[in-house]
Amino acid sequence: MDDRVNTLNPPRHDVLGVPVSMVTMGSAMAYVRAFLARPGVDLVVASNPEKVIAARKNPELMAVLKTAAMVIPDGIGVVLASRLHGQNAVARVPGSELMPNICALAAAEGHSIFLYGARPETVAQTQALLQKQYPGINIVGAQHGYVTPEEMPALVDTINASGARILFVGLGSPRQELWMAQYRHQLTGVRLCQGVGGTFDAICGRPRRAPRLFLRLHLEWLYRLLSQPARIHRQRALPVFATQVLRDLIRSGRTR
Ligand code: UDP
Repeated sequence: MDDRVNTLNPPRHDVLGVPVSMVTMGSAMAYVRAFLARPGVDLVVASNPEKVIAARKNPELMAVLKTAAMVIPDGIGVVLASRLHGQNAVARVPGSELMPNICALAAAEGHSIFLYGARPETVAQTQALLQKQYPGINIVGAQHGYVTPEEMPALVDTINASGARILFVGLGSPRQELWMAQYRHQLTGVRLCQGVGGTFDAICGRPRRAPRLFLRLHLEWLYRLLSQPARIHRQRALPVFATQVLRDLIRSGRTR
């Protein structure tokens, strides 16, 4: 196990045996600053009901969540489950909002960024949009997410040669988490590596983020389901998650 975990990392608790850091957007950003100030690669990954259910079945994914420096409560289901267990110091920290906040910090404080993931046109457009939105941002490299295993050593060399301090990896889950676990020890200059899922697509407006009303009511998952019915198989994790959380709660109430 990585000995950097539990030293200066946010406190965490378990939702169905899967770790979640007890953070809000404000404290998550304070930890981001701390990660950028210390040597070594700190992993920031997201937790949502789908990932909790996936991690319970996938020991490799579980191991990454356990060794990550911060597991942000990305989905409202994880926040509600935490609160049901009396963990009130948790608020939703969507990965798609943390990434732009990190970009703003990087632009203000001069941390260089490498983007890895998504389709070639998406990652190129993401780079252009971020440069427009955060004047002074230093994006030192961008690579689409369809690199073959044979090409991977060259990509790692490119990331290292770029001198990037921050690496955003948008390959979808669990592909990005497994990549981060496999290659983190080969990254020489990176200090913070965030798994951002489909955030590059979201920045480019594909698919559009939910209207504000859905966001305010924490129904982004419903909007995504309605606008992309093909995701139905992924949303199947939601009722499974809710049932298991309630069962867990009843069980822990009985043993108290
Ligand atoms: N992707 C990639 N390489 C792959 C497979 C997927 O770069 O081999 C990208 C894909 O183009 C998209 C993202 O990974 O940008 C997947 O987004 P999704 O919405 O599925 O991820 P989530 O946010 O739900 O984890």
